[in-house]
Amino acid sequence: MSDKKFPLKGFGSIAVHGGHEQDPRYAHLVPIYASSTYVYDTAEQGMRRFSGEEPGYIYGRWGNPTITEAEEKIAALETFGLDIEVKGILHSSGMAAISTLFMGTLKSGDKILSHYSLYGGTDEIVHKLLPDFGIASIIADLRQLETVEAIIKGDPSIKMLYLETPANPTMQCVDIEALTVIAKRYNLLVACDNTFATPYLQQPFKYGVDFVMHSTTKFLNGHGTAIGGVLLGRDLEWMRTKGTKAHRLLGGNSNAFDAFLLINGMKTLEVRMERHCSNAEKVAAWLEAHDAVAHVNYGGLASHPDYAIAQKQMRHPGAMISFELKGGLQGGIDFMNKLQMCIRTVSLGTCDTLLSHPASMTHFSVPREDREKYGITDGLIRMNVGIENAEDIIGDLEQALA
Ligand SMILES: *Cc1c(COP(=O)(O)O)cnc(C)c1O
Repeated sequence: MSDKKFPLKGFGSIAVHGGHEQDPRYAHLVPIYASSTYVYDTAEQGMRRFSGEEPGYIYGRWGNPTITEAEEKIAALETFGLDIEVKGILHSSGMAAISTLFMGTLKSGDKILSHYSLYGGTDEIVHKLLPDFGIASIIADLRQLETVEAIIKGDPSIKMLYLETPANPTMQCVDIEALTVIAKRYNLLVACDNTFATPYLQQPFKYGVDFVMHSTTKFLNGHGTAIGGVLLGRDLEWMRTKGTKAHRLLGGNSNAFDAFLLINGMKTLEVRMERHCSNAEKVAAWLEAHDAVAHVNYGGLASHPDYAIAQKQMRHPGAMISFELKGGLQGGIDFMNKLQMCIRTVSLGTCDTLLSHPASMTHFSVPREDREKYGITDGLIRMNVGIENAEDIIGDLEQALA
């Protein structure tokens, strides 16, 4: 927050003001810089810009002032209250940020160690694309710390520990601090997808991870208006050189319009997350007591296997819940069809409550045995608890379960 005269103390204040610089033409908000290229006063200035001797924008794929503000705001939030500096690079999607991370840090012969419950796109890139580049992965239950250490010790080609917590579909959590301690004993890079938690609920950099990624499409944007992603790193030199190269050459750049939507969405991150989470806690407790519900997966419930990890590393347990209906596949379909206010769709992080039924929607074409390995049972419903009033969310669920 070097751009403010007095130090801001609260997360919410930084969410509003962080990263902002006075516009040279006095616009209150950062303008949408819709320009693909940037001009030089003289040939010599062009030379200085290209050599990096003089700061300044050059070409839209490399960044622009609207994108910079979004990057700096996210970096300020991810390091809130921590005594470290990180650099963020905004991307066109969460998957683009993750691609830059993998292609920029790994080479043929390297391996990634990760958990079995990963975002679908990440799971696919790790299993379907990276092997073609000679990058393999080992998937384990990262909650078994001794197993994790034994795996790392036994295979020196493991170069990266890749974390995602909480994770789909059962909201499993892994212990970022304990895993980072182990990984650092063997000089592994540690990356953490912080999409479900947001920097308001969880700050992986506090535990020494090297990289944090977000799909900004979700809670950071907060309104479901743009796809985006960010890669943040604490090795500033790497971020400015190799990381920047990988981002620029792979071409997963963001754009000024989406960055503008993201900046304005992030201003309300604290207030939205407070409301999302207090609603989620109420909805989870209500569902757990309902006769038609066999089981609720929510890190804030004492019945969740990773309750202690969530308590340890998260401010609140988040806004994502999944639950199992006793009625199986047809019970799930009937329930989804009866929803009136809540929205039937995939994705998360919007003000609106969203529900999806993976067995009839995203995973319809996946054989039952295969999807059950990922915890996607017939009656599983996934829910992004929105910021409406809790009584209306519960009211809609109640009439749909009746
Ligand atoms: C959505 C999501 C992604 C991918 O982000 P996109 O913006 O859709 O590319 C990655 N990780 C998690 C946890 C997600 O929810």
